[in-house]
Amino acid sequence: MMKNRTYHIETFGCQMNIYDSAIVESLLQRTGFITAVSREQAGLFLINTCSVRKHAEQRVFALLSQYKKLKDDNPEMRIGLIGCIAQIQGAELLKMFPHLDFIAGPDDYRRIPEIVCNFESPKTALISCLSSEDYDDVKPYQSGPCAGVAVMRGCDNFCSYCVVPYARGRERSRPLVSLIDEFHRLSDSGVKEITLLGQNVNSYRDNDNDFAALLYAAAKVDGIERIRFMTSHPKDLKENIILAMAANRKIAPHLHLPLQSGSDKILHKMNRGYTAEKYLNLITMARKIIPDISITTDIIVGFPGESDADFQQTMDIVNSVRFDDTFTYRYSVRPGTKAAAFIDDVPEQLKIERLEEIISAVRRIGRENLEKLIGKTFTVLIENESRKDSDWWMGRTEHNRIAVIPKNSCFIGDFTNFTAGEISGFTIRAEIKEDLHAPAALHEA
Ligand code: SF4
Repeated sequence: MMKNRTYHIETFGCQMNIYDSAIVESLLQRTGFITAVSREQAGLFLINTCSVRKHAEQRVFALLSQYKKLKDDNPEMRIGLIGCIAQIQGAELLKMFPHLDFIAGPDDYRRIPEIVCNFESPKTALISCLSSEDYDDVKPYQSGPCAGVAVMRGCDNFCSYCVVPYARGRERSRPLVSLIDEFHRLSDSGVKEITLLGQNVNSYRDNDNDFAALLYAAAKVDGIERIRFMTSHPKDLKENIILAMAANRKIAPHLHLPLQSGSDKILHKMNRGYTAEKYLNLITMARKIIPDISITTDIIVGFPGESDADFQQTMDIVNSVRFDDTFTYRYSVRPGTKAAAFIDDVPEQLKIERLEEIISAVRRIGRENLEKLIGKTFTVLIENESRKDSDWWMGRTEHNRIAVIPKNSCFIGDFTNFTAGEISGFTIRAEIKEDLHAPAALHEA
């Protein structure tokens, strides 16, 4: 029987993983666990992993080796590996890392408290067939004015480079009624901003309710003043979603729309289900309906078969769309995916050069976009103290830009209007123009 019922969780990867860690925390707290004072003093130490990119996986493995000392110093500690790496690499990890006590895939989190509390076997692998679990009844542990809510789990798209369908199973949407209950609960606990999460939120469906219907329903919840969502898929983004954004002042005018490549040949090999032209038409449609919409994206360079001309087509879209922010990645083979069978024929040095070229362009464009905002007024939801200056708050604007504002008479959880003063790095530094404690007007349709 476990005596030290304290836990510490380290989370790698996307917002969905952060949300899943909150689910696990909630399940642990239901059975009497509390947060540990420190990682070293925890009775249970969990690592929630990501295997979307090789680099993230290598980092987890390097850290796992370092964590052996934790177990040496505290032999009673239970160490568990959860998340995508646990699901995909399974029981072999228990052999690779003898100090690991158990592993659990994304559909097995309910069994963690039981396995930890009644720890008989020194090694346990919890890896069920995926696609059955949605944790609909679990209220994720939450603090602060912003919260994520998973509206669906899994993915059916099988992009050729991606492990998510194998790590998280088939796509399933949560019932609308359950989500609305969760939004009300979050509002009652002081949450002002929710981010609707899913691998492909645009394909949300609960009977006749599509994602636009979910947006309209969320916007009716009193106390929730700002709604974000991610991630969108160009294959499934419809005009009715952008119209829902325009019609509801609470829905933030920000669209994260992964491009991945500007070459139709590469998009086809990636199994993305759209062409560069269709992608550009979506951008035109979104900007026509919401002229000031902020658009961000993801791009992979060096995918198998990517020629100089293919890469140039990606650069052409970067230069024409002028994204506000771009997450750029160098392609790495993910075992088990369809692309793993392709010849990884772009030399590493060329991948690095393409990555550097694209990063340089997206940084320049992102900075130029920010500089155009100086003198304009935005609304920030204060989330935290600024990491660099304790006299300033940090928050995000309606367009999801990071801003810092002086700590006058506002507090964490307040919406405050400000005028963009200067740009520092990629942060807007503000001077407060008005001081509003009540939720301020968000963007107008
Ligand atoms: S849409 Fe494609 S990239 Fe995104 S999670 Fe699904 S398979 Fe992976």
